[in-house]
Amino acid sequence: MSQMTDMRKMEEEWLRTERLPHVWCPGCGIGIVLNAFLRAVIRRNIPKEKMVVVSGIGCTGRTAGYVNVDSFHTTHGRAIPFAVGIKFARPDLNVVVFSGDGDLFAIGGNHFVNAARRNHDLLIIAVNNFTYGMTGGQHGPTTPTGAYTTTTPYGNPDRPFNIPHLAISLGAPYVARWTTYHVNQLQNSIYKALNMKGFRVIEIISQCPTVYGRRNSMRSPMSMMEYFQKNSVINNKASYEEMELTYNGKIVVGEFRNVGGIPSYEERYEEIIRRAQE
Ligand code: SF4
Repeated sequence: MSQMTDMRKMEEEWLRTERLPHVWCPGCGIGIVLNAFLRAVIRRNIPKEKMVVVSGIGCTGRTAGYVNVDSFHTTHGRAIPFAVGIKFARPDLNVVVFSGDGDLFAIGGNHFVNAARRNHDLLIIAVNNFTYGMTGGQHGPTTPTGAYTTTTPYGNPDRPFNIPHLAISLGAPYVARWTTYHVNQLQNSIYKALNMKGFRVIEIISQCPTVYGRRNSMRSPMSMMEYFQKNSVINNKASYEEMELTYNGKIVVGEFRNVGGIPSYEERYEEIIRRAQE
């Protein structure tokens, strides 16, 4: 059996294939991210019973229903506190939050900020498609200034979150951003982050041709991928200003922070309990 067939077979074991076909639109980027995630997990040799995936609401939130591990499709914006609870109850598990930009940075924004500040031991896979895809393409907290959405038909006046800057400023030990065009880099980033402790954030700029692309002159999945290819710049040492996302401008990607040895909240908590019992 070829290596590729082997990998495909192993990936299928990590999927609830009986639930396929999935709900995502043809050409959506979420499948690319899920594929990169599964490959990284398989390469890491993580047993299924040691992995938990938690999602919120939205197109990306449907991921929890397809991975063949203990997974939780939680309420809107609450994936992170739910994951924090799981990690407290079972510190031996790899707890991954796999969710979208609306879920993580709008209604869930406060949870993101405080979980990052405390350095909870979670891996955050944040799929950023610049919009609320599932509910029809409204603008959200990561929609670039000037972009067209159903609720900003003349262009978005808001400034989007700079997610890597936000995560780094809160002390997250691992922070990276890729697009769905950077499949290998994304997979390697997840592979690395799976082996670290603390609040690890990987933002993935992903195509939503159905509701974002078609309002912004990128009607097909290919045109969005071409946009990512032509406009992405890899710069691991980017300044915070360079990490800003602008409409039709450059997308700076890279591994912006990778610092080991910072105790997670769970480690600090255990240490306090241990000392109190001495
Ligand atoms: Fe993907 Fe957009 Fe379709 Fe949602 S609406 S499944 S994000 S292409």
